[in-house]
Amino acid sequence: MEIENLTKEIRNYAFENNKKKTAEQVATSWYGDDLTYSGPGKTLFMILPTPGCSWALGDSGGCTMCSYVSDTTLEPISDKTVMDLFKEHLNRHPLKEDYENGEKIAIKLFASGSFLNPNELSLNCRREILKILANMDEIDEIIIESRPEYINEEVLDEIFSIIGDKLFEISIGLETSNDNTRTEKINKGFTLKDFEYSIKLISKLKSEKNYNLKSKAYIFIKPILLNEKEAIDEAIETARYCVEIGVDRLSFCPATIHGKTLIERLWRNGSYQPPWIWSTIEVINTVRENLEIPALLDTSGFGSRRGPYNCKKCNKDLKHLIIKSNLNQSIIDYDCECKINWVSDVKYSNMNYSKTFNKHLPLY
Ligand code: SF4
Ligand SMILES: [Zn+2]
Repeated sequence: MEIENLTKEIRNYAFENNKKKTAEQVATSWYGDDLTYSGPGKTLFMILPTPGCSWALGDSGGCTMCSYVSDTTLEPISDKTVMDLFKEHLNRHPLKEDYENGEKIAIKLFASGSFLNPNELSLNCRREILKILANMDEIDEIIIESRPEYINEEVLDEIFSIIGDKLFEISIGLETSNDNTRTEKINKGFTLKDFEYSIKLISKLKSEKNYNLKSKAYIFIKPILLNEKEAIDEAIETARYCVEIGVDRLSFCPATIHGKTLIERLWRNGSYQPPWIWSTIEVINTVRENLEIPALLDTSGFGSRRGPYNCKKCNKDLKHLIIKSNLNQSIIDYDCECKINWVSDVKYSNMNYSKTFNKHLPLY
C-alpha cells in the first residue's frame, strides 16, 4: 500500500512537471538485426503514439520502474494522426529490399502500454494497422505488448480474421513469478493466475483454432527491495516457471533508472542499485544452459550511470557480446578483474540484506 501511495505521488508530480509531447515527438522507429522465430533476421521496432498506459494513468500510479507515460501525449490523439505516423515510419526502412534478399522480417509495435487496450490504441487503428501488415508479404511476424486483462478469445478471433496465418506474438510484462514481488514491489496489479489464464488461452487457441499465435514473457531483473542474489534467483525461477506453463519466448529486462519513478527515488537516496552486468549474464547463461526456450537479454542502459554496470574495462565488451549472443543464443564466456567484487556482492547480500553494493566487505 505504501509503495502504491508513493508511486502515485511521484507519478502526479511527473504529470504536473513533464512537458507534454506531441504525437510526432512520441512516434519513432528503428530497424536492425534481431532474433525472429525463423532464426536471425531483421526487426522493425516502432513506438506508436498513444495517450499513455491506463494502469499508470489510473489510481494505482503504475509500475515502480516504468516511465513510459513520459513518452506519451497524455491527451487523446486522432486516428488519422496515429495512422499517418504509422505509415510514415513503415515507409522509412528498407523492408522490401531486405525481403527480396531473403531476410525474415518482424515488426514489434510498442504502445507504451497495451496494444490491445482500445482506450490506448483505438479499435479502428488496431484494425487498420493489422490490415496493412496482413497485406505486406515482407512482414512475417507481428509482435505486440499487452497486459493480461485485455487478452481474450473474442479479441484474438478478430485479429486472426484480419491477419490470417501470419505469426502474432503477445508479449506480457510478467516481470516475476513471485506474486509478492510483482504486486508489492513492482505494483503491477495482476497476479500469476491472471498471467496463467492468458498463456493457457493462447495455447488453447493455437491447438483448437490453429492460430499462429505465440506468447512472450518479459522478466525484470532486480526489482526494488531485492538484493543481488535474490534478483538472480528470482529471474531464473521465473524463467523455469514460464517454460513449465508453455510460454514461447523470454525477454529479460535488467533494471535501468528511469526519471520520475519510485526506483529513481530509492536510487537517489542510496537504497537501490541496478544489477551488475555479471548478474544478468549469470541469469541468461543459466537459462540457456538449462532450459529449452529462446531467451533475449535487453542491453538498454548497459554501462551507463543509470543502468547495469560492471567496470569501465568490460562494460562495452559485454554489451556487444550479449547483443551477438541474442542472435545465436550462445553462452557468454568472458572474464574481468571486477568479477571478484560481484562474487562478493552476491555471496554477502543475504547476510547483510543490502540492496546496493557491498563496498567494505573483505573479498576473500
Ligand atoms: S510496465 Fe507496462 S503496465 Fe506497468 S506502467 Fe509501464 S506500461 Fe504500464
Ligand atoms: Zn570489469
